[in-house]
Amino acid sequence: MMNFFRKLFTKAPPEPKSLWDELKAAGGCLACDGKPKSFLEGPSGGMSTNVFCPHCGEGYNLTPIIPLAERIGKNKSYILR
Ligand SMILES: [Zn+2]
Repeated sequence: MMNFFRKLFTKAPPEPKSLWDELKAAGGCLACDGKPKSFLEGPSGGMSTNVFCPHCGEGYNLTPIIPLAERIGKNKSYILR
């Protein structure tokens, strides 16, 4: 019974920030500090879109309606010179 109350009144630890939240907070790529922060749109399928950083080529798969972001690795062909 005590455990029950302890659980009830103990605040749950804050959830770790999702990659989506980190991207939003950073306003762009997390892998480099290139300015201006922006993404180039790559192939999209269904509800998700692949975006790439024009500075380092870091790629993210974004699904805004969930929202969810996943790292998909670098693609250097998106780097703008
Ligand atoms: Zn980058």
